[in-house]
Amino acid sequence: QAFQTINERDEQIQAYLTLDEEGALRQAKAMDERLSSGGERGLLFGLPVGVKDNMVTEGLRTTCASQFLRNYDPIYDATAVEKLRTADSVIVGKLNMDEFAMGGSNENSSFKPVRNPWNLDYVPGGSSGGSAAAVAAGEAYFTLGSDTGGSIRQPASYCGVVGLKPTYGLVSRYGLVAFASSLDQIGPITKNVEDSAYVMQAIAGYDAKDSTSAKVDIPDYISSLTGDVKGLKIAVPSEYIGEGVDPAIKDAIMSSLQVLEGLGAEWEEVSLPYTEYAVATYYILASSEASSNLARFDGVRYGVRADKPANLLELYHRSRSEGFGPEVKRRIMLGTYALSSGYYDAYYLKAQKVRTLIKQDFDNVFAKYDVIIGPAAPTTAFKLGSQVDDPLTMYLNDILTIPVSLAGVPAISVPCGFVEGMPVGMQIIGKAFDEQTVLRVAHAFE
Ligand code: GLN
Repeated sequence: QAFQTINERDEQIQAYLTLDEEGALRQAKAMDERLSSGGERGLLFGLPVGVKDNMVTEGLRTTCASQFLRNYDPIYDATAVEKLRTADSVIVGKLNMDEFAMGGSNENSSFKPVRNPWNLDYVPGGSSGGSAAAVAAGEAYFTLGSDTGGSIRQPASYCGVVGLKPTYGLVSRYGLVAFASSLDQIGPITKNVEDSAYVMQAIAGYDAKDSTSAKVDIPDYISSLTGDVKGLKIAVPSEYIGEGVDPAIKDAIMSSLQVLEGLGAEWEEVSLPYTEYAVATYYILASSEASSNLARFDGVRYGVRADKPANLLELYHRSRSEGFGPEVKRRIMLGTYALSSGYYDAYYLKAQKVRTLIKQDFDNVFAKYDVIIGPAAPTTAFKLGSQVDDPLTMYLNDILTIPVSLAGVPAISVPCGFVEGMPVGMQIIGKAFDEQTVLRVAHAFE
């Protein structure tokens, strides 16, 4: 039935890059056999799910939406994927995205753009645009996305679904094709908050194969959904509802705060003064890390190789020129520049220092408040093609998600209304490893 919906809808939505009907049937059959021989049902038993195409899947094509990896079939499963299988969900296919997760509209996919299910003329957001659109269109029960600077929360917001970026280190990054390793996190995109808690229960936890994986006890996310927010202290940063944020979005957030107030929570306006430096800091750090991470794509180890190169240098040169799309090249150049000797101190080192200040902004507020609330994005989804030629405007769409990524703390986007027919997402930000509170508040509001 999952494949039937996909076949009916995906010609328009273009959320999937690869479908795996055979693998899904194989997995379903194996589950049946296990059950009939007395086995138990996993937490996510029988749910058809999609995985963003930057997480490796054994024997199943994984392209990162790049021409470079158009023929790449991994030989192992990412830890998060393995955990989904252990929980008995059935992987139906791999989801479209911006190439190597660089972008905010899915228009950087080298195969095809994804369309927003609410209005096919609009972008679904990015880079996990396929993951968000698939859930919104009913083409998967839930999906996995990855978030480096907003790539789960922003598309979730644009598509009217729930997207959670966990605390950095909570979900293993093993098998996630690295973009910016100090920021990348895998998380669930779901129809509602309860589903988000279930998926987190299945995928969170220490993994020795990821050196940045956190050794923390995994709480019971499902039972934290009590509906109770009495006495909860909410901070609302003035930077998140001020200049640059669509007034209609501000209104939607204000009405949502009233709902939470009605449930017994209290809110106050606060300031995160370093917010204005976050986008510049992020693009220096993320591009620097990307330029280093993407050095492995050399035409020798993974994916495509230039045809008949004259020598080794030409092999590298042509494989990379032909394999990477324009946005990926832009980031590699930016990052290589920021890391080069003579510029390192002025850009990379400076950005690292500002990152610490941004993190301190959050620490200061969390000393007094339980959660921070604001919009997930300054606007609703925009029209396909309207920003592709303007990378700076595109970069500014992430102004409200990037600071959270730099601080490494968890945040969820939950639908909180519509502006001119397009969904608005409210972002609830929590203390490090306090996903329970984030989920509880989101659930109470929903
Ligand atoms: N839009 C941001 C970027 O282009 C975020 C991407 C992401 O989180 N993967 O870098």
